[in-house]
Amino acid sequence: MASIFTKIIQGDIPCYKVAEDEQFIAFLDINPNAKGHTLCVPKQEINRIFEMNEEHYLALMKFSRRVAKALEKSIPCERIGMSVIGLEVPHVHVHLIPINEMKDMTFQHKVVLSSDEMTALASTIHGHL
Ligand code: AMP
Repeated sequence: MASIFTKIIQGDIPCYKVAEDEQFIAFLDINPNAKGHTLCVPKQEINRIFEMNEEHYLALMKFSRRVAKALEKSIPCERIGMSVIGLEVPHVHVHLIPINEMKDMTFQHKVVLSSDEMTALASTIHGHL
């Protein structure tokens, strides 16, 4: 069965899209740790990040770095944190999280943003790519 991220990539489920190229897509996490929490996802559905071949993995890092730099320009924060988990969605994704303190990386502290705020945020980040 297609992962929820494959359904987003195919356009069957909406997302707050930040960036896209031939191989990858970036969109806002629907349950963000912090304002601007973004997921960078390969379009090819692969479960575990270290199952990716080296070229594909390095391309994901390059894409994530580009998105992270746009995030830094969009959200006032101490730095951009990065993590890879995949326990909830078994389709590779890099979490990019604007952080100010360690709790912003814990996935226990969440922020709630309106749909309008998410739309505006995605547009702002996209504008800084
Ligand atoms: P994990 O697989 O543990 O790395 O976590 C999956 C992440 O995907 C969580 O932070 C979720 O909030 C996020 N997520 C799940 N469904 C969606 C969706 N439809 N759109 C955006 N983010 C999602």
